Amino acid sequence: RGDPRLKAISDALSVVPNFPKPGIMFQDITTLVSNHKVFKHTVDIFVDRYRDMGISVVAGVEARGFIFAPPIALAIGAKFIPLRKPGKLPGEVISEAYELEYGNDCLEMHVGAVEQGERALIIDDLVATGGTLSAAIRLLEREGAEVVECACVIGLPEVKGRRLLDGKPLYVLVEPR
Ligand code: AMP
Repeated sequence: RGDPRLKAISDALSVVPNFPKPGIMFQDITTLVSNHKVFKHTVDIFVDRYRDMGISVVAGVEARGFIFAPPIALAIGAKFIPLRKPGKLPGEVISEAYELEYGNDCLEMHVGAVEQGERALIIDDLVATGGTLSAAIRLLEREGAEVVECACVIGLPEVKGRRLLDGKPLYVLVEPR
């Protein structure tokens, strides 16, 4: 697509080789969000896409999903809910485990965070295997929400070409640098 904002977003990312482990090309969004114009472009693209889709809940994935989800939620008039790592949410939670390259991790959501039939958008910074977003989808669906779409700033090429994640639409702005 020819939107010049997408190039600005890609250019504002930095790449840190071998972080946090050898072999990983870490896509660092701190340089994106410290550029207020590019951060605003990023939020604007999502807001333009989602403002008229009847979305009432924007779920952010800890930790970097928490940077992008709240401004989107505020702009489209939806509530923000955090999907957190284990042991962080104080109330009653449901949990979904997912596979990592080495070992497992888990996401939790408060029981009662969404109501039956609510239309949800899930936000993270980056999708690689999709395991994290799949766990997020399961959490929302277990509580009766309808997942309208998952959206990330960055998607690996194989994922960016993919339109669906567990049958849900996936929307990605740029590929890793
Ligand atoms: P996955 O579950 O494999 O799709 O991995 C996505 C999650 O891991 C997201 O929460 C990302 O923030 C993080 N992640 C995976 N790979 C990278 C990477 N190369 N750079 C930055 N974050 C990453």
